[in-house]
Amino acid sequence: MIVVLKPRTPKEKIQEVIEEVVKLGYTPHPIHGELQTVVAAIGDERTHLTLESLTVLPQVERVLPVQKRYKLVSRESRGEDTIVNVDGIQIGGGYFAIMAGPCSVESEDQLIATARAVKAAGAKILRGGAYKPRTSPYEFQGLGNEGLRLLRAARKETGLKIITEVLSERDVELVSETADILQIGARNAQNFQLLIECARSKKPVLLKRGMSERIEEWLLAAEYLLVKGNPNVLLCERGIRTFETYTRNTLDLAAVAIAKRESHLPVIVDPSQGCGRADLVKVLCRGAAAMGADGLLVEVHPNPAEALSDGQQQVDFDVFRQLVHELLPFLNAAERKLV
Ligand code: PEP
Ligand code: MN
Repeated sequence: MIVVLKPRTPKEKIQEVIEEVVKLGYTPHPIHGELQTVVAAIGDERTHLTLESLTVLPQVERVLPVQKRYKLVSRESRGEDTIVNVDGIQIGGGYFAIMAGPCSVESEDQLIATARAVKAAGAKILRGGAYKPRTSPYEFQGLGNEGLRLLRAARKETGLKIITEVLSERDVELVSETADILQIGARNAQNFQLLIECARSKKPVLLKRGMSERIEEWLLAAEYLLVKGNPNVLLCERGIRTFETYTRNTLDLAAVAIAKRESHLPVIVDPSQGCGRADLVKVLCRGAAAMGADGLLVEVHPNPAEALSDGQQQVDFDVFRQLVHELLPFLNAAERKLV
């Protein structure tokens, strides 16, 4: 960290700062300028106490961090892209995977029909919420255990891998028996106990970005998974809340580019929660592919008008087929291979 002192700070006041820096576990290197002194504090900022508290001293102007707060997720810690292996399906490092299916698992007919349709169109992974985080307690909360059973039946029938959300640390073991990927939703993006429990399960985890989560916070949440022993992490951009009303959320494609630059982890884009409008899903998928994303999470329903959740943003089978077809030139251009 760099501690910048106010101009013309007397010697004894500089000394006071140097002593505090030592007390907090850093090695101080004062640099005396003509007018101003700065103290370079050498030490591992991730594990030492922060020096920001020194700004309470009247002679301290500013404290500037030098290191990034995350380590294992950063590009510096790993030269090549991480490829997450989902029971034989590779994601990342040039391999692009499409995960598709309904927002919620609603019935056997709905799920099996959707699984068959998304498989035929080119998806390898079936999404579907058995446990749904709903804003209102009066809305459909998902089929729970029965939903998990239907997801297993769909996997048996089609061979698709399964991604489904785990809402609580209590359910991690149960959901892991069905899921090939555990989805951590936007509302749980910084539920650190849930993250730790998911890390323990060693299952691949798709970590959504929180609705008002900074990129740094998102990467630090992923750091929890890695530092607790689970390297199989997919970052997922799903839109953030802004002042805009034409869309449900603002899909932050710049965050995709930044996450790709900062981290070796694969980045998935969810255009469905990302904009909340079925009519924009196709173009946002193309944008995501062109930006260098490593996969998509798309909501598909046999009859979106009758969906029990998120009907307005789910595409039907025809649109989904077109979506995959129109995506291919963009994947080629971005040197991504559809798995
Ligand atoms: C979902 O995928 O249906 C969902 C609830 O996502 P999010 O957590 O991003 O809102
Ligand atoms: Mn949804």
